[in-house]
Amino acid sequence: MKFETLCLHADGNKKDEWGTLTQAVCQSSTFVHKGVGVPSEYSYSRLSNPTRAHLENTVAALEGGVAAYAFSTGMAAIATVMKLFGAGSHIIASEDLYGGSLRLFNNVNSHDGMTFDFTDTGDLKKVESLIKPCTKALYIETPSNPLMMVSDISALSALAKRYGLLLIVDNTFLTPYFQRPIELGADIVVHSGTKYLGGHNDALAGFAVVNSEELAERIGYLYKTVGACLAPWECFLIERGIKTLPLRMDRINSNAEQIAGWLRGRNEVVKVYYVGFEDHAGYEISKKQSTGFGGMISVEVESKELAERILKDVKVFQYAESLGGVESLITYPMLQTHADVPKEERERRGINDRFLRLSVGIENISDLIEDLKQVFDK
Ligand SMILES: *Cc1c(COP(=O)(O)O)cnc(C)c1O
Repeated sequence: MKFETLCLHADGNKKDEWGTLTQAVCQSSTFVHKGVGVPSEYSYSRLSNPTRAHLENTVAALEGGVAAYAFSTGMAAIATVMKLFGAGSHIIASEDLYGGSLRLFNNVNSHDGMTFDFTDTGDLKKVESLIKPCTKALYIETPSNPLMMVSDISALSALAKRYGLLLIVDNTFLTPYFQRPIELGADIVVHSGTKYLGGHNDALAGFAVVNSEELAERIGYLYKTVGACLAPWECFLIERGIKTLPLRMDRINSNAEQIAGWLRGRNEVVKVYYVGFEDHAGYEISKKQSTGFGGMISVEVESKELAERILKDVKVFQYAESLGGVESLITYPMLQTHADVPKEERERRGINDRFLRLSVGIENISDLIEDLKQVFDK
């Protein structure tokens, strides 16, 4: 089956006894045994649940993985994956990362005796120079958040294999519709399902997808033990979102391309960070490994005053944290996602008080551009 069809029929249209078309929400914490020592297919919903198993099967199929695990949030998925590594393990990660992942690595995992190096994972030589005997994994986001830096997944996979490291890719920004890291050699894909997969700004979720039975067993064990599982109703919402993922992503991709071009044409704009520009440093790699550029754009405007005016005066875009939903959002990374990053480090990387991040939604493109225009022209 092709991707769009898998979003709807990854279960091969197996039906329950009522012939339910939509996977039923199985709101039960436990399952009655069939006899002494004869458990049902399911026993307890922390371990597994039919609604969740259905969603996990869909996500594993979309990412081309051996198994997927649905977590309560993206951070729960990432934190559980990090439990694969113990004290003394060293991880090399992209320097431009989701703020929550940075916080987890620097302030939680580091207390457990893990060490991290952050670098431009688009630069293979830099990555290789940081590998030590205790290095266990490469952890990347591509494109990255919020600077839209691109890393070459196949090249990093080759490097990881050479040194016996796991390659973990956060695929939240592009989703498997545009990019399938496991097919490019990644070992584990993580997601904030809260974003594009769910897609409606109404539910939190996370995923870890693995490329081998061995990893499935190790993550499966951590999953049932740590217990950050996704509740049945949320599973239903995320699965419903996934049904329209390709339609939403196509619209978002085209809206974002037009907004990025419009922003770039404005005198008040200093720089637009958008992977779909032919002169973007990661454009060629992006064309090779992804089939779309996604809906994320960052922009540096000429003044803090204008940045604040945009946040205050937009009417269609909403000033709110998060991304990947049908509604277009704008965030101020300096005060929100990257508030925990030390100021000098943040500014060195260009995340200053003139820097905004846009998550383009599925509204009509003229309304979105008109919305920005009325602020810029004021
Ligand atoms: C939001 C996000 C996360 C964390 O996901 P939650 O569902 O909010 O816990 C991780 N990675 C990226 C790239 C994100 O955008």
